[in-house]
Amino acid sequence: MTDANGTPDFSDIHSILQQHSSLINGFSQLQPVIMKLFTCERVTIYQRRRQQQDLVAKFKSGAHTVKIEVAISPQSIAGYVALSKQSLLIPNPQDADALRLIHPRLCFVEQYDQFVTRNILCVPIVHADVLLGVFQLINKQEGGFTESDVTLAQMVAEELGKHCCYELGGTLRPWDDLLHRDLLSTKVLNEIYTESRYKNNPLLICQKLISEHRLAESDLGTSLSLHYQVPFIPYNPDQYHIYHNEHMLNISYLKHNLIVILADAQDKPTILMADPSNANMIMEVEQALNLVQPEIAVGLPQHILQYLGENNIASSPGDMDEILDEISTSNDEDDEQVDELSDDAPAIVRLVSRILHDAKRLDASDIHIDPEKNGPTRVRMRVDGVCRDLNNLPASHHNAVIARIKIMANLNIAEKRIPQDGKLAFKLSGQLVEVRVATIPTVAGEGVVMRILATAGAMPLSKMNIVPSNLQMLQQMIVKPHGILLVVGPTGSGKTTTLHAILGHLNTPDKKIWTAEDPVEITQPGLQQVQIAPKINFTFATALRAFLRADPDIILIGEMRDKETAHAGIEASLTGHLVLSTLHTNSAPETITRLLDLGLDPVNFSDACVGILAQRLIRTLCPECKEPYTASATEHAFIERQYGDEYLYELDLADNVTLYRAQGCDACGDSGYKGRTGVHELLSMTPALRALIYRKASAHELAEQARSDGMRTLIQDALRKLLKGDTDIKQIQILGGLD
Ligand SMILES: [Zn+2]
Repeated sequence: MTDANGTPDFSDIHSILQQHSSLINGFSQLQPVIMKLFTCERVTIYQRRRQQQDLVAKFKSGAHTVKIEVAISPQSIAGYVALSKQSLLIPNPQDADALRLIHPRLCFVEQYDQFVTRNILCVPIVHADVLLGVFQLINKQEGGFTESDVTLAQMVAEELGKHCCYELGGTLRPWDDLLHRDLLSTKVLNEIYTESRYKNNPLLICQKLISEHRLAESDLGTSLSLHYQVPFIPYNPDQYHIYHNEHMLNISYLKHNLIVILADAQDKPTILMADPSNANMIMEVEQALNLVQPEIAVGLPQHILQYLGENNIASSPGDMDEILDEISTSNDEDDEQVDELSDDAPAIVRLVSRILHDAKRLDASDIHIDPEKNGPTRVRMRVDGVCRDLNNLPASHHNAVIARIKIMANLNIAEKRIPQDGKLAFKLSGQLVEVRVATIPTVAGEGVVMRILATAGAMPLSKMNIVPSNLQMLQQMIVKPHGILLVVGPTGSGKTTTLHAILGHLNTPDKKIWTAEDPVEITQPGLQQVQIAPKINFTFATALRAFLRADPDIILIGEMRDKETAHAGIEASLTGHLVLSTLHTNSAPETITRLLDLGLDPVNFSDACVGILAQRLIRTLCPECKEPYTASATEHAFIERQYGDEYLYELDLADNVTLYRAQGCDACGDSGYKGRTGVHELLSMTPALRALIYRKASAHELAEQARSDGMRTLIQDALRKLLKGDTDIKQIQILGGLD
């Protein structure tokens, strides 16, 4: 189509919007123009309802007005786009698996009768960072939507955003309403928006507005509420209490991000935050606590901290803050980019080593340094599997920090467009700490992910907190000259640590051990360790074939991802090698059915398999502050029920069982927990079990047999660790998804 044929353009949309005071009035004119512009069959414009967590689309169909309501939640395409504030191009909405990859709860429901949706383009309508609606196009006529359609749709959405903002009476910036109501002068307002000490410090802004300008908290709340289009909730402990699941989030994470999860008398959760436009944070919290459509509200930073139990509100300067202060004052006049060779360099060097030392001290596994478009750089660390926001770095220093890390890791500083991998090492109290560094170019700039490698190489098998009966069984399995041992569990369940502990146990000078890993996280002297690279077709299966030519005694295959690898692993174990590998399955018996489903021969497999160890990590109580108490009757009954009557005698339960609970102290950052420990389910191959595998019995039958052969389940093992005082009953409930 050409312009000569009357193809509408962007300016037509602009002029139609100008003529109408509300979108609904202009929609009948807008609709054909947009449909022609994108050559698509349907257009829907969802608008956010004032101060609600939902969207409404209205349009005339024949004589009546049709209304579609959608919650801002991951359960629909428009709802997910609204929640994440990210555009989605969906080539085939009927492909449920592809949707689940975007978000586990995302699904598609046809909204119109007798209509088949073939493709969808959905973009958020955002103005001044605040979500105001969703613009959705359906069924591009030829070939589906393209990236240029996405760009054009985003331009249209921007135009719609201005209109929606006007309709809702929204403001451009959080404090603008104070100016509109004459409560504040333009001069003061500009100072707040531009001065660097106020940037990313909403607490300081609020304190200034209240103490210096005598503004009421409710006035601040109204202004924020108008801007973010969500209700304002002040500090009111009589009406709200802390949501019961909040303990699953780290308190310092909540304080740092100025966020608290409240519940009203009906226990309906509300996420109260200082910046409700932070879609990522909302999604992170929703996912962590498994919240379904919580309310979102805006709160003053001091109120949020009060809910979180902080009574004496003053910023506590730590080492990191001091360094950041020094950096920001030394570079106050201009916002120019600082390069790594400038006078600032020593501060940058100290800043990077501060980050590394903090990470090691907190026992973090990863450090993420993420650039943000138009904002400060985020520094996050994963501790005990939970990601925490640590500090923000001024955007002007982002490049210098990244460059410093790249220098330490021997990477090319000039190359910023392609990802690079490297390693760096630093000393902490005389101990060498190794860090794997990966750079990632993003549209906002270059980011870095650092993984702190286990310092001491492999952990001794005896320190793995494996109960004596399991440890003895495991040791018998791994001294066999051939066979296959599988360690199974989801990502982050500590499989690699366990495998290396086993290898460490077996690693004697007379044994030839080869490993294929992705990535190589733990190194051990005496092992031949190979990093696989699927991109250049060096896969687990090809590595395994290469290994067999070198005739090792023991082979570790990082993961049996596919049939080919699984087959090759079994073959190798049947030809005189001890093979260790992992699988992403939930339980030991389920692993067997999974492998048979992959097409493995049941006879070969059951001959080869020496054992399957399923495992998980659970949080352990802080030894400094854990508090003993006598289990209640309910807890006593819970333990009995979960362990099972049949085996209860093994626990030797007294009438008064002593359990421990989390309390919180300085040593554990007030969380009550420190570190994690493994819980294990070890299945050994017995003649009875082999017979069941031959006839492809169900996972349930296999589990029954394994239990009567002596296997104890993950929950049973976790209960043993509960009674040892390693953990509390809450962690058992989380592990089992039990209440
Ligand atoms: Zn403690």
